[in-house]
Amino acid sequence: MLPYGRQSISAQDIEAVADVMRGDWLTTGPFVAAFEDAIGRLSGGHHAVSATSGTAALHMAYAAAGIGHGDEVITTPMTFIATASGASMLGAKVRFADVDEDTALINPAAVSALATERTRVIAAVDYAGQPADYDTLNEIAAAVGALTLADAAHSIGGSFQGRPVGSLADLTTFSFFPTKNLTTGEGGALVAKDALLAQRAHEFHFIGLVRDPTRFQIRDEGPWHQEVQEFGLNYRLTDIASALGLAQLTRLSDFKRRRAEITSMYNDLLSSVEGVITPAQREGADPVWHLYPLRVLDDRRREVFERMRADGIGVQVNYMPVYWHPVYANAGYRRGMCPNAEAFYKQELSLPIFPDLSDAQVERVVESLTRALR
Ligand SMILES: *Cc1c(COP(=O)(O)O)cnc(C)c1O
Repeated sequence: MLPYGRQSISAQDIEAVADVMRGDWLTTGPFVAAFEDAIGRLSGGHHAVSATSGTAALHMAYAAAGIGHGDEVITTPMTFIATASGASMLGAKVRFADVDEDTALINPAAVSALATERTRVIAAVDYAGQPADYDTLNEIAAAVGALTLADAAHSIGGSFQGRPVGSLADLTTFSFFPTKNLTTGEGGALVAKDALLAQRAHEFHFIGLVRDPTRFQIRDEGPWHQEVQEFGLNYRLTDIASALGLAQLTRLSDFKRRRAEITSMYNDLLSSVEGVITPAQREGADPVWHLYPLRVLDDRRREVFERMRADGIGVQVNYMPVYWHPVYANAGYRRGMCPNAEAFYKQELSLPIFPDLSDAQVERVVESLTRALR
């Protein structure tokens, strides 16, 4: 089966990992620090904290924002559940704002209609790799005293009007799962523009340990002392994974270029195919095409999915609206809440896209799709 996404691992990646394993540090050593520096630089010079996954980074972002019972978080239903569940697990009420029908990015007017003084975070997703409209979202957030969060699991390396992903929202999270734009096996990171938010995220991912003597509540305990003032978890990324991440970062622009080539190949080959809509590109966005979200018309998505899978093409669907998951549906979230997201989901079919996908494989995908549509 041709997968819909997969990692690209070079001999240098393998060498970088092997080198760390011969050294003194397997975790929380120089490679973690260097990887965080590199992610911070890529994000426009902000503070980065690495994490064990994108899900962990989202949990860290909501914890750093101080989310709890009585707080509200506005987000998009067109995402992987972790964008919402991190806030729900901390006790917040999640409100889903509908998306634009063409790009599936969160619609600022829908966000505005839900924003109140209870809103603490507005969380957008850079669906398929295109930055959402953070300029407008930041204005809406500022008016109610909320923070903005970019779930940039799809968009690391992208930019909007020349400003890099990582610098567009107050908080940004990345995922380094193998299918994403670069990988550390499992892994993720958080970027914060504000130093205090970065510190809170760092402490949360480090069991809540405070090690700065100027902040101790217990004084004169001894030189060994460290203390916990708020609960945290162990979400630390290893040096092994960070070395892989650093090696992968040197190829991120190549990955981005190849993803753009594949996207335009699909766009060209599919322009004359009836019954499908190719992905819309947002004005001003310089995306990293993590997904190629085709839309299949006439209620034929499932049929086309099954035929292509039977034909050895690993198509995927991204995503079922988050509030359809039983954990939200059983809590009273009703279908029909976000009609654009539901309509998009009914048509969406992610075609294979990853840096090592060859031109011949792209042609094979299109032939399989054309046959499936017959
Ligand atoms: C992959 C992904 C996540 C979660 O990242 P993991 O590293 O798999 O935990 C969160 N949000 C979106 C939009 C994703 O695609």
